[in-house]
Parts: sequence; structure tokens; C-alpha cells
Amino acid sequence: MITAITSSQEAIELEENYGAHNYHPLPVVLTRGDGVFLWDVEGKRYYDFLSAYSAVNQGHCHPRIIHALIAQAKELTLTSRAFYNDKLGIAEKYVCDTFGYDKALFMNSGAEANETAIKLARKWGYTKKGIEDNKAVIVVARKNFHGRTTTIISASSDPSARNGFGPFMPGFEMIEYDNVAALRQALANPNVCGLWIEPIQGEAGVYVPQPGYLKVAADLCKQHSVLLMMDEIQTGIARTGMMLASDHEEVHPDILILGKALSGGVLPVSVVLADDEIMLVIKPGEHGSTFGGNPLAAAIVVEALQVVKDENLAVNAANLGEVFRDRMKGLMEKTSLVKLVRGKGLLNAIVINDSPESETAWNLCVQFAAHGLLAKPTHGNIIRLAPPLVITEEQIHECCDIIESVVLKYNQ
Ligand code: PLP
Repeated sequence: MITAITSSQEAIELEENYGAHNYHPLPVVLTRGDGVFLWDVEGKRYYDFLSAYSAVNQGHCHPRIIHALIAQAKELTLTSRAFYNDKLGIAEKYVCDTFGYDKALFMNSGAEANETAIKLARKWGYTKKGIEDNKAVIVVARKNFHGRTTTIISASSDPSARNGFGPFMPGFEMIEYDNVAALRQALANPNVCGLWIEPIQGEAGVYVPQPGYLKVAADLCKQHSVLLMMDEIQTGIARTGMMLASDHEEVHPDILILGKALSGGVLPVSVVLADDEIMLVIKPGEHGSTFGGNPLAAAIVVEALQVVKDENLAVNAANLGEVFRDRMKGLMEKTSLVKLVRGKGLLNAIVINDSPESETAWNLCVQFAAHGLLAKPTHGNIIRLAPPLVITEEQIHECCDIIESVVLKYNQ
């Protein structure tokens, strides 16, 4: 039995030999995290510019969240929902008050929360909107990313997510993201029960829609009696400079879907929020999860969200996002290798001036890592840059210096 890793090489070989090859990681083996920093097994320190796909907005191993984890783990971790526990109700009230909904339904992964939202929207469509049985349609956007289950990939336009995994679940209609005319047309179908979108398409490459798009989408949903199902799993919890990305346009989705940073990256917790008229269409026995709503997760969620509020992380993300994009715009003036910078708050991406099939973005990320900064391409030539929201202005400048020097050297 191997009890400890002695080198990065050993850890990589173990994963290659014994793990499924469903990811293509950068060749870095991490062993410790603290705030904005990660350390590899050889002791090299890195700035984390991925934040576990925006799950560690509060920074790695935040002391308050870890304290909540340990304290609750010593008392009670799992009861299942066959019984009540003394933490779930507190967490449910906390998230309902924080986000302005009547009811919360806790799950574990983001994909499960999205599955929950699909079931809620369909059941609402049949029982409240009067859609004929099995005819409900959910409108989705091209280039979406909502997770990896067979139902969710049925709503995906990404061949690498879908190919070889059919047959697919019916009941989705795909339209262009950020296209009001397409939205207007699709929502007019009386069988549509939900519009399921991300307020910014994260995995697609941090695609920010035109100002006003979300507001129009919300208005059209209201007009056609369609539920707005907002997947804020990546954009929520202060990442884009407000508690929710929907807040930028004062949009209050009918169904709000959260995950990732809800636990500060400590364990998988997701939640779906809605008002009674929607949430109570699901009756006992119709949906659930053994781990969903466990007391350990419940205690952590309350502390993780309170940290976001106490440390003003949304304001920090808004301010430092401006600083970051200004620096990247400055870099664009010095090189043609960076074609575009886009994003909101501290969810940003740079688009590399090369074909999506080229290795340039990957090679740049390998170079960033060599210089102490971890980031990853999203799709081909797009590099997402999303540090923990506890980063300081001085640190953002230091990271921009790293990015700038690597890009400028690469250009020579
Ligand atoms: N929805 C969005 C917008 C995401 O970005 C992700 C993950 O990246 C998911 C859903 C899936 O979450 P999970 O990986 O926890 O299932």
C-alpha cells in the first residue's frame, strides 16, 4: 500500500494508471491551499486563478468555514431526510432570506440541482400552466454548460459532452444565447414551461450577454407564463461583483440554482430556490437525495455565505475585476496575442489570437504555472481567469505582471 506521495511524477503516474481518463489536468500536483495560494508537493507556491471552477470564492481552507466543518463533523454528519435534523432548517431559512425566496431544496452537485430545476419546471408546467402530459419543453441556449448527466447533456450543443452518449432526453429546444428575437419566438410556444440559462456563460468562455438581455428574458418569461430558471452555479455567490449575476439587471429568477461556492469548496452542496407556488408542486417521495440537506452541509453553507457577506467579497470582486480588465486591456495594446478580454467582477477570460484548435492557450497556461499562477483554457483558445475573491489589489497586480511577462515572452 502506498501511504504518501514523494514526487509530482509519482502522483501523476498513479492517476494515469489507476484513474479514468476523463480529465486532462495541467501537470501540477497540489497538496495544500490557503486563501489565494496553492502549493505543489515539491513546495512551489502558486496563485490559484481557477478557484476550482469558482467553488472556492472564499479562498482555500477559509478558517471560519473549516471551523464550522470540524465542529459539525464532531456532532452529526448524516441522517438522511427520513428524519429531521437540527441544522437543515437553519440553512434553509438562511438561504431563503439571503436570496429572497419562500423555499429551498438542497442537493449535492450542481448537476443534481439542475436536474431538480428541470423536474420542478416540468411538474409546474403540467400542474399549473396546464401543459398536456409529456409535452413540456424547456428552452436552452447554445453553448450552455449545466453539468454532465445524460439529461443535462441532452440539452447541450457541445459535441465532446454528447458524442457517444445518446440516446438523448427529449423536451429541450435550443436557441442562440443573447438573441432576443430567438427568445421571443421560442417562448411563444405554449408548451414551454421554462427558460434555462446562465446569466454569463462560464464554460463557453465567459460569454457576457448584451446589457438588458437578462431583463428582457425575465419580462418575456412573465409575459408567456414561463419559468426563468437561472443557473448561477458558477456566476453566483459574489463571483461577478454582486451576490448573483442576475442582480446586475435586477432580475429575480423564478428558479435559482446555486452550487460550488455555496460551501466555499469544502464539500459538494447545491440548492434550488423558488417560491411556494413552484416549489410545492413536488410532493413527498417525488424527489430527493440521501446526502441532500445533510447537517454537515447545512452548517457549512451558513458559514460560507456569512463569510461572503462579512468580508464584502462582492465589492472586492467588482473593484478588482475592473483593475484586472484594465491591466489586460493594457496588455492587449502591447501584443496581438491577446485578442479580447471579457468578464464581470472576477470571472474573466482572455481570448488568444489563434485558432480554437491551436495549443497556444494550453502552452500559455503551462508557462503561467511555471511562473507561479494556475489557470486553464476553457474552450480551445480561451483562458478563464478567476481567482478566489479574497485576493488583494497588490496580489492582482502581481498576477497581472506574471500573465503579462509570460504572454509578452511567448510573443517574441
Ligand atoms: N452549471 C454551471 C453553470 C457550471 O459551471 C457547472 C460546473 O462547472 C455545473 C452546472 C455543474 O456543476 P457540478 O460539476 O457540481 O455538477
